Amino acid sequence: MGEPTFISCSAKRKLIQIPDQGAAVIAGYWSPELGLCTQSVLLKWKDGRISSLQPLRNLESCSEKKLPWDSYIILPGWLDVHVHLALDSLDFYQCLENWAHPSLIEENMKGYLQHYLEMGIVGIRDGGDLPGFSWLAKNRVNEGVWTGPKVISVHEAVNRAGMYGRFLGRGFKDILEWQEKERDFFDQGIDQLKVVVTGLIKFDDYQVVGPTQWTVEELRELVEAAHRRGILVMAHASGEEGISVAIAAGVDSIEHGYYMTTQHIELMREEKIAWVPTVAPIGNILKYPSDRYSSHEIDTLKRILETQLAKINEAYRLNVRLGVGTDAGAYRVPHAKGFYDELDWMAQTGIPKLEVYRLATQENARICGVPELGRLNIGTPMNQLQLVNDL
Ligand SMILES: [Zn+2]
Repeated sequence: MGEPTFISCSAKRKLIQIPDQGAAVIAGYWSPELGLCTQSVLLKWKDGRISSLQPLRNLESCSEKKLPWDSYIILPGWLDVHVHLALDSLDFYQCLENWAHPSLIEENMKGYLQHYLEMGIVGIRDGGDLPGFSWLAKNRVNEGVWTGPKVISVHEAVNRAGMYGRFLGRGFKDILEWQEKERDFFDQGIDQLKVVVTGLIKFDDYQVVGPTQWTVEELRELVEAAHRRGILVMAHASGEEGISVAIAAGVDSIEHGYYMTTQHIELMREEKIAWVPTVAPIGNILKYPSDRYSSHEIDTLKRILETQLAKINEAYRLNVRLGVGTDAGAYRVPHAKGFYDELDWMAQTGIPKLEVYRLATQENARICGVPELGRLNIGTPMNQLQLVNDL
């Protein structure tokens, strides 16, 4: 007997324990590989993996005992390619104070991870935190101590000392300091390298972004250090200058990318750089109003949101690789639930729904460097799938 097998039933927000081998009649399936099927299907699995998926004609007789799944459609599990498990989406500064009590943060993270799986999210990429909480979470899941999605963690981000990102990484004062510590940095363990290229956008000043932290040459050195080790690079970058620097340095994905230009988009298509536009941290403030922001800030956020949605649509039409990532843990972007907001925001740009689903599964898996996730085919493990009520 192996470990118990679960399948995520996001329709009911729970995990269903299933036998290692079994059969069920389901209402259909969808995956990027197989396309959409909306008729009754006999699903069978063996050793925890799909062994057959046959359309059921005229209620053919089938002697096996079947699970009562006939209202469910089966899909690949989602991935969220930008989260921060160490943040609570409620109060950033209070949360950083709570970091002094690791057991509290660990309890939070354990709950979020369980919730991700219950909501059909089978993989997350964590953009890091200085104390290494997300790295710990990844190890807990891998050891089987905690139940959760596959965690891809950057461990700690690389930022410039004294500039934005002090909660993400220790900060390097210059490229020389980085060179001295490069080996140790990689040796502490990382799945991807996160580089902080720019500061934050300003909610009260359209088009203004915190300063760029690296020259193209410096950033290229960081990127090459990762690539030599076979490690992908995610770049936190917004604004004309910072995005240009990130593209020129050869990063693998641009995170946030507010104020992206058409020229950036064209270069990213050529270089096959992915864009993870994280709409929820802006959009959800407008979607779930509070009294935290002034009317001037709200107006600015509306402009930023409109610009971002239009640019995402342009990038989609030009065939740029797009990822679905939330920045979960940011204010108003709760873990797991925020992913459904991000799916809605992506659909609001005009990208067809099943195309959004393809981005949220197959493309997200590629961005995570785990292409075996985000699939549904013969041989796919049942615990990487989800059951939904409708598409
Ligand atoms: Zn982030």
